[in-house]
Amino acid sequence: MDIKPHQVLKMTQAIQHKRKEVWALNGNEAMAYAALHAGLDYFAHYPGSPVNGIEPKLKQLNDWHQAGIQFNDALNEHVAALAAMGASMTGARSMLVMKHVGLNIAADPLNYVGYSGVKGGMLIIVGTDPGANSSTGEEDVHWYAKQFNLPLFEPTSPQALYDCCYDGFALSERLGLPILIFATGLICHQSTRVQTRAAVVKERQYHFEKDRERYINVGQRAVRNHRFLIEKMQGFALENNFIEAQGDPTSSLAVLTRGNSSLHFAEVRQLIPALQNAYWIQVLGVYPFAKTVILPHLIGKKEILVIEDQDGFLEYLLKMECFNELEASIHGKDLFPAYDELRVNEILEILCKYFDQPYPFTGLPAPEIPERLGTFCEGCPHTGSYFAIEQALPEQTRIVGGDIGCSSLPPFRADWLLCMNAGIGIAQGIAPFLQTQQLVSTGGDGSFFHGGLLALLNAVQNNIDLVHLVFDNKSVAMTGHQVSASTFVDYRSVVEGLGVASFTEASAFHPKELERLIQEKEAQKGVHVIWVSGACARIPDERATFRRANYAPQINASKCEDCTLCYEALACPAIDKNPLGNLEINLDRCMRCGVCYEICPNGAIDLQAKNHSL
Ligand code: SF4
Ligand code: SF4
Repeated sequence: MDIKPHQVLKMTQAIQHKRKEVWALNGNEAMAYAALHAGLDYFAHYPGSPVNGIEPKLKQLNDWHQAGIQFNDALNEHVAALAAMGASMTGARSMLVMKHVGLNIAADPLNYVGYSGVKGGMLIIVGTDPGANSSTGEEDVHWYAKQFNLPLFEPTSPQALYDCCYDGFALSERLGLPILIFATGLICHQSTRVQTRAAVVKERQYHFEKDRERYINVGQRAVRNHRFLIEKMQGFALENNFIEAQGDPTSSLAVLTRGNSSLHFAEVRQLIPALQNAYWIQVLGVYPFAKTVILPHLIGKKEILVIEDQDGFLEYLLKMECFNELEASIHGKDLFPAYDELRVNEILEILCKYFDQPYPFTGLPAPEIPERLGTFCEGCPHTGSYFAIEQALPEQTRIVGGDIGCSSLPPFRADWLLCMNAGIGIAQGIAPFLQTQQLVSTGGDGSFFHGGLLALLNAVQNNIDLVHLVFDNKSVAMTGHQVSASTFVDYRSVVEGLGVASFTEASAFHPKELERLIQEKEAQKGVHVIWVSGACARIPDERATFRRANYAPQINASKCEDCTLCYEALACPAIDKNPLGNLEINLDRCMRCGVCYEICPNGAIDLQAKNHSL
């Protein structure tokens, strides 16, 4: 192998022999502590649940400890991935964080990062979401580990996450490859006691060493470096022993688990006698398959159960790697569903049937969980924006493209929701075929700078007729109020520079004007952008703070004609009927956005100005 070793990196890691004990860290906090203690230099991310808690904790730790970590709050995952690779190419330790759908955006460079390898340790943390608890889909991104051909670990506790991240940097440097670490919401959000380790003192010399054989991957160079990667990973597969085995090794039954299912199986096995002595292997180093250590445990077994969420990645690896060497019947996705989060009661029910034993909790009625449609927060700018769209265009003829973010929250007022910038993207395919319908696409400010800017340019290039609304709530609200580029970019110049037919600014808190604008632009040819500003109610701006302090709106029952506009069409969650059937504004919830006051056709809402008249 002629890839040069990382000789330029002169890293001496003095170890502080001081052990600390930190109590009750959740998984995200544990990863932040591990990164700090392992001497992280560079952090790049695009926020997404369930791993959006790493960045704020790490920034706090960086400030407290003056750790000198460089942060890149990237505008999308593709840029974040490339930047983290760049840092690592100088010998810096880097951490790249995103959610599972973000891995699709970062996949382009990550397909090839293994060809060139890394110098400083690089961790790629991915929040996965079986059950789509906080995502538009439950894509199983385990297949990317095989496609990228990078080591994948799946720790199952905050302690394991801490250890995996802490040790992952050194492993990454030893292999010269980034390490993938996947964590579900269950693991990220649980809190347990975490034993931390000695903090590394950074004494690195950062240097980019030119090495075109390694970094210019094209043609036969790419093929050769691909071969090196395969050889390196074959070597690592032989040493991958990240498993935990328990139970009776002589049992004829073996159970393999990974991720959430390991936690659930620990409970289930207590309730099924046939499982109590089964040989149970928890697989932590999921890829490459740890054949050298796992196969000897499975020789002679009659049955093997593989319990895991989603597609059955581990089962696939087991069958592919050990097909000719096992006599056991292997069961996995023929028993367990490949969709939704595999929950403890479901595993128990399926295994009870499999072992032909009664379900132990039949006396307990299954809890009925009423469906609760979600809502925007009180005072949310999206409430007025959607009201304006719905008033501007008749329901029978309007088509509204929706986008990821708070504007996509139930009760789902758009006509589709798929991925970031699907609003403007899908609208471009619909636009040429419209006959009697009217089309509006929507997207948040976060999405606009993530990739919507290019989608808008594409719409201009294709000369379609479209009204596109950018909902600018001045933050990336849904994932934790990260900074939005709209707070520091001259977005008017950016949008006008793309050649749109018109750019107009509007306020989400003045829906009547927005309604008029939408109708006006719908009647015109070309691509029209309406930039709808309104600060998120959770981080109120000065205007919202002033109004909250100075107004106490009430509905005047003698003027109200129960037209339903404010509580059904607007659907403000602070407005409800009291037991007497009269409408009331709940002042504890009302954010004084003023939208109901503006839209009431009967002047029935009295603002009750405390200190100022209107
Ligand atoms: S967090 Fe902000 S943007 Fe999101 S629904 Fe609530 S008010 Fe609206
Ligand atoms: S919009 Fe005005 S008239 Fe209509 S229900 Fe609300 S308060 Fe009553």
